[in-house]
Amino acid sequence: MNEAKLHELRAETAQLDSAGLVEWAWQQFGAKVAVASSLGAEDQVLVDLVSRVAPGLPVFTIDTGRLPEETCDLLQATLERYGLRIEVLFPAADDVELLVSEHGPNFFRRSVDDRRLCCQVRKVRPLRRRLAGLSAWMTGLRREQAQTRSQLERIEWDEGNGLLKINPLADWSQEQVWDYIRANKVPYNSLHDRGYPSIGCAPCTRAVAAGEDVRAGRWWWENPEHKECGLHR
Ligand code: SF4
Repeated sequence: MNEAKLHELRAETAQLDSAGLVEWAWQQFGAKVAVASSLGAEDQVLVDLVSRVAPGLPVFTIDTGRLPEETCDLLQATLERYGLRIEVLFPAADDVELLVSEHGPNFFRRSVDDRRLCCQVRKVRPLRRRLAGLSAWMTGLRREQAQTRSQLERIEWDEGNGLLKINPLADWSQEQVWDYIRANKVPYNSLHDRGYPSIGCAPCTRAVAAGEDVRAGRWWWENPEHKECGLHR
């Protein structure tokens, strides 16, 4: 997509609030747009918005095989609360068998490249399979979340995957997310109440101390500029 078309879409949606942008995407793309949820707090807000304004909009999540038990509990609670179908993607069994047989179960702590390889097999490949054939995908990313996300727009062209990326919560603050969750009784991961602001796979996530960056507990052995799993490069 060229820059002019992207500017046109941004101008067309500039006055819409987050729910309005979700609804616009559904009207525009139908089943060719899907929410990618990692079941984080922002994604839970997004799923709540979908349930209100676009209940037919597809939602999917990726079960990497290393998720915390609390995240599985949250997926169950979310299904029961909203009655939405959430598609669960898994990495290819052959890929995981080869990866673990070659490198061991926790090789990802050895280097950034090793960690990226694990994320590639367990997260990025299943995501790419699902994105193939879509016109747009939607995420709960926010600008404030990380150094790597500071330039995030509400509508972007995802060059790597060749489709639009829509981020309805791009300009939300962390307080807004939690105010929304509390006001609307949105189910959320119980680990958030135990010092985990950002949650991924169990072996790559830990609690953070008061005042630490929200992403400090993700891949804590790496520098902040490397902290993306490849889903959102
Ligand atoms: Fe592997 Fe950790 Fe990435 Fe999960 S977050 S896919 S366990 S490296």
